[in-house]
Amino acid sequence: MDDAICRVHASLPGDGLITLAWGLRGPEDTGMDALARELKLAAELGLRTSLHSGSDGTQRPIADLHEHGLLREHTTFVHGNGISDEELRMLADAGSSLSISPDVELKMDFGNPLTGRALSAGLRPTLSVDDVPSVGGDMFSTMRTAFAVQRGLNGGLNSRDVLEFTTIDAAASCGLDGRTGSIPPARTPTSSCCAPTTSPCSRSPTRLAPSSRQTRVVRRCGGGSGDAVLRAVRRTNPRPGPPGRVNTSDAAGARPGNCLTPNGAVVDSG
Ligand SMILES: [Zn+2]
Repeated sequence: MDDAICRVHASLPGDGLITLAWGLRGPEDTGMDALARELKLAAELGLRTSLHSGSDGTQRPIADLHEHGLLREHTTFVHGNGISDEELRMLADAGSSLSISPDVELKMDFGNPLTGRALSAGLRPTLSVDDVPSVGGDMFSTMRTAFAVQRGLNGGLNSRDVLEFTTIDAAASCGLDGRTGSIPPARTPTSSCCAPTTSPCSRSPTRLAPSSRQTRVVRRCGGGSGDAVLRAVRRTNPRPGPPGRVNTSDAAGARPGNCLTPNGAVVDSG
């Protein structure tokens, strides 16, 4: 595994367009010594890491890592169901992040998603799918599951929180919040769902009811609701595109802030 990650890392072009991260197998599979070695190598290579973990109530996986000095700010823990509030605070203190996969966790009977408890412990959780073949890959659906479950548990969640879990909080958990996850003036949008000044649901009849933009996105939108994806493009070797279509690598499209429309054309986002 160590050789493989070094080989992949060495093969990347180093132009900043691809960010490598390492999905660790975790101490249950490899033991603490191997995990410590992998975390050390990840730090040497500058890689963020993630691992899936949880407890049936008898284990204390986060406390075990804490006792071995293996909690890192560059690690994202996925799930976490069954861990204690004390362990959640250990993650917050270490600067680690937590990614919740509400659909899979409920379907697989891992336990209730930790959304509310994570917030109480000082963590800003992020959302993930975990298993696309069994629950699909639509993050709008994932947002609605997270929202509905936590509202059912204690009513302690709002749409803005859920939207931030999937945008700026998710970007922060990947170390990318300095350049993506939100679209303030002068920041380069990168692979972000277009959040226009009107509504991403502008083609949907569900926009008729008055509500905040955050509420519309979280509760009513779906995978087909977005009009465009914003991304930065970099000019490399311009190639001619098909007639009537703008090549994303040509000069016309090579400006941060442009929109990539569903048909592939780059339009100036103004
Ligand atoms: Zn998992």
